Amino acid sequence: MALAAAAPDEICGLLFGQSDRIEAMCRAANVAPDPARHFELDPSVLIAAHRAARAGGPQVIGHYHSHPSGVARPSVTDAACASPDGSLWLIVGGGEARLWIAQPDDGMENEPGNELAVRFVEAMLDIR
Ligand SMILES: [Zn+2]
Repeated sequence: MALAAAAPDEICGLLFGQSDRIEAMCRAANVAPDPARHFELDPSVLIAAHRAARAGGPQVIGHYHSHPSGVARPSVTDAACASPDGSLWLIVGGGEARLWIAQPDDGMENEPGNELAVRFVEAMLDIR
């Protein structure tokens, strides 16, 4: 967390564990073209993590990233990039860390044809 506070760019990484518990984190390079405002997990880290999970290793349950100048809530960009797959989004910003779950948005405001709308629901933070 101190690392996130000190970094001018968004830092990011993967979360491992079970559905209700984060057991480990792994830092990944932020390969976004504009790392001060966006994040994009290094795809080689993602691929390696999913391959390890299939081989019986720790399960990938989500990822984390920081908002160097913002608050610990999903941004508009985050919502646009998210898929409603129930994965965890740990966001660090403004001196706090908050955990969100990307769920399908079944609200009335859903645009026709936009089936990937995401609603972020805050979850209890339980980091061991
Ligand atoms: Zn973000």
